Amino acid sequence: MYANVIIDISHEKVDRPFQYRIPDALADQIAVGVQVRIPFGAGNHERKGYVVEITDRAQWNTDQIKEIAGVVAGSVTGQSQLIRLAWWMKERYGSTMNQALKTVLPVKQKVQKREDRLLVCRLTEEELRAAIDEAARKKYRARERLLRAFLESPRIPYGIALRQMNLTAATLKPLLENGTAELTAKTVERSPVEALRRRDAAAGPDGDGRGAVPCALNPEQQAIADDFAARYDRGDRQTSLICGVTGSGKTEVYMEMISHVLRQGREVIVLIPEIALTYQTVLRFYRRFGDLVSVINSRLSAGERYDQFERALNGDVRVMIGPRSALFTPFQNLGLIVIDEEHESAYKSELSPRYHARETAQERARMCGAAVVLGSATPSLEAYSRALRGSGDGYRLYRLTKRAKAGSRMASVRVVDLREELRAGNKSIFSRELKEAMERELAGGHQIMLFLNRRGYSNFVSCRSCGQAMKCPHCDVTLTLHRGSRLVCHYCGYQTRTPAKCPSCGSPYIAGFGTGTQKIEAMTREMFPAARVLRMDLDTTSRKGGHEEILASFAGGEADILVGTQMIVKGHDFPNVTLVGILAADLSLYSSDFRCGERTFQLLTQAAGRAGRDGTPGQVVIQTYSPGHYAVDCAARQDYEAFYRKEMAYRQVLRYPPVCELLAVLVSSRSEETLDAAAAQLHGWVLGMPEAAQVQLIGPAEAPVYKVNDIYRKILYMKQENYDILVKIKNRLEDLSSRAEWYDRVMMQFDFA
Ligand code: ADP
Ligand code: ZN
Ligand code: ZN
Repeated sequence: MYANVIIDISHEKVDRPFQYRIPDALADQIAVGVQVRIPFGAGNHERKGYVVEITDRAQWNTDQIKEIAGVVAGSVTGQSQLIRLAWWMKERYGSTMNQALKTVLPVKQKVQKREDRLLVCRLTEEELRAAIDEAARKKYRARERLLRAFLESPRIPYGIALRQMNLTAATLKPLLENGTAELTAKTVERSPVEALRRRDAAAGPDGDGRGAVPCALNPEQQAIADDFAARYDRGDRQTSLICGVTGSGKTEVYMEMISHVLRQGREVIVLIPEIALTYQTVLRFYRRFGDLVSVINSRLSAGERYDQFERALNGDVRVMIGPRSALFTPFQNLGLIVIDEEHESAYKSELSPRYHARETAQERARMCGAAVVLGSATPSLEAYSRALRGSGDGYRLYRLTKRAKAGSRMASVRVVDLREELRAGNKSIFSRELKEAMERELAGGHQIMLFLNRRGYSNFVSCRSCGQAMKCPHCDVTLTLHRGSRLVCHYCGYQTRTPAKCPSCGSPYIAGFGTGTQKIEAMTREMFPAARVLRMDLDTTSRKGGHEEILASFAGGEADILVGTQMIVKGHDFPNVTLVGILAADLSLYSSDFRCGERTFQLLTQAAGRAGRDGTPGQVVIQTYSPGHYAVDCAARQDYEAFYRKEMAYRQVLRYPPVCELLAVLVSSRSEETLDAAAAQLHGWVLGMPEAAQVQLIGPAEAPVYKVNDIYRKILYMKQENYDILVKIKNRLEDLSSRAEWYDRVMMQFDFA
């Protein structure tokens, strides 16, 4: 037997393992993750490395393979566990060991200080356009070049500005002085905790609750914390699910649990979806646990991330907060993993290995004797069905039924049928009821949130003469109209201007259809000219800190109405918001995803949960074309149980998860012909397997968006109650395809839904 060993696990080259022979004497001590001593290089100097794979296939000439010298004593560290976790992910989700290692191990990168500096544009789009006009008028060529580049990207590496755009420090100086742009060294906020500390200090005496006695838990909260602590001390590590309505104080309960685990000398990981990972949220943890807390997010560079992981490894940080990838914080003595908003789709990775944080957290916890706590107001069907099961592989179910803050009640929800509005002659995007409610709340000095799950100005642009829609040349989707006449592909980022004439019939009558957040913003301003309107979506938040800025200015009362996509409904707490308008509840209802009903219910419930969080009663108006759909109806009644029963019945009939396991094999290629051949061959292979009779095989079918970025995509689905059977099939397909003639030209990914 042979062991593949990597020498430096923090190196970019984890993909270059070295192969060693396992001597018989060591055979039963060697496993994936074990640290070994090996002779290395021409001089055979002894070095340490980690075993990442064990195989009976020799990579090359067997008599040239050296032998492992020994096992490092006491070598099962946090790192070993992560390597074993990578192995588990590779097996469970289907990927190469390499991809799995890159997912779990922090990559140390040499950061070039100079390249690290960024020129960041500080102007709004309008101001920027004005500045460009001015520069053009005054013939400041270099300045105009930079400003135009800012239109494409508000952040430009300093080195690129100097060399490729031919700018000089002298041209830049006035722009930096008058506030057009800012030169930021990324290293300034190398430690996110520094930023937290500054925020906390800036918050003033009000914010200085750090180290203070936590707010007394109410009896419901206390009972959960007590039961958890008692179970934890008994060594009971059953996963817990806290099912608590929005604002019921789940976070306070997590913090109590975290305290308990920290007191036992163990560490904690808290996962929060990126979109809800604001200073507001993290500060609550920081105030309770002080410098023990750190945070990572996707905006950190690889170097910054590595620093944070290093601090965790050294024991400087004991509570790590972050999105999905924080799961791989290399703690030595991990005691608890909390996953807030457990139902969020962001917990599933889109890259191979396509792991789910919930399952992966449970595996990591199992390996080191930690506990897992999940929380949500709208649990995923997977989690809730396991919580109802209770024993066996089920979860411990805890409920929080009331809002925690004194006087805070659940909002009242009204559903408006848009078809009736139309019949009554109202063609506006605001129903009469919503418009009246908005007028009332604005008059009362309250704030309003308007939610629409689609960004841009118009959904698509088409020719009124021949009906032809403007499509992305690289993808099978229509382009979305943004303000001005910019057409944007939301799949690949392709941009172009709206043509003056229809490219297929030459007609000049080209117009946008449908509505996006930009258009809502414009129409809101038109309808309520006195109100101050802010918009938050991917387009307004792409600058660093953009997301935080908008939330802070809305929270600070600088606007009356916040228009936005789902970004605005996730976990933010705005005490003065008394009205939430959901403009078109149906937008997420009719997609090709079997979870679209679940997603719609979650979005609507979360959006409704934003209203009236602080004593003032809240109202929610849901506008929809399908008032009878159970996802809309149950969300309006805030009735999770009813939704769960309906949705489960639907999954039962159609045999979708969690009733059944679903494996999707995604194949993609630049050549349609190659793709067809590969997909057909995969299909044939499955049919020829002994398990074929037991699985329901669907496809190969074209992916919902067949072409993205000039790559064609097909999917083969397999359904089966028993997960192990699907894994067996996956493993065989991996093996067979590695010898297929098309192997190098087709990308294959496995996706367990
Ligand atoms: P969730 O995470 O369930 O949405 P949070 O933990 O954010 O709820 O709590 C919602 C609000 O209620 C917060 O402002 C929080 O400070 C407050 N809160 C939580 N628990 C209590 C309590 N026991 N007493 C008073 N206020 C509380
Ligand atoms: Zn036309
Ligand atoms: Zn595209």
